[in-house]
Amino acid sequence: MEILIGNGYDLHRLVTKRDFILGGIKIDYNKGFLAHSDGDVLFHALIDSLLGALALGDIGGHFPDKSPEYKNIDSSILLKKTLELVAQNNARIGNIDINVICQAPKLAPHILSIRENISKITEVPLNRVSVKAKTKEKVDAVGKGKAVEVFCSVLLYKD
Ligand code: ZN
Repeated sequence: MEILIGNGYDLHRLVTKRDFILGGIKIDYNKGFLAHSDGDVLFHALIDSLLGALALGDIGGHFPDKSPEYKNIDSSILLKKTLELVAQNNARIGNIDINVICQAPKLAPHILSIRENISKITEVPLNRVSVKAKTKEKVDAVGKGKAVEVFCSVLLYKD
């Protein structure tokens, strides 16, 4: 059995008249993510970490943001397609660790729901799914609340 590590990163700008959807959970806020898809920056970082562990390229290569097929798509569908690729490669997830860098809204009340949703979709036990949130201490565009960043690490076992 091989052990493979993957890391993923994503950033989306926050704009008005868009939903704030993070890890498949809609959070009430006056701004949301500008993107071709639903802009779920957490799922995008997770997808990139899974693809990265298997050296399968990146999310843009698999789900092009020029394609009308993916316009406003629920990113959990993209995550499920990526999980099919993981299974086709005889791999399974060991654990997931995610950092969300977000000035506002406060994410603490939503962390458990996000972890539970990731656990449900990936079938990884809740105690192997970590989501941490922090602010950027008001530094740079993320700290000014203009965007949200996500960093993700995953470990895969491949038979
Ligand atoms: Zn994205």
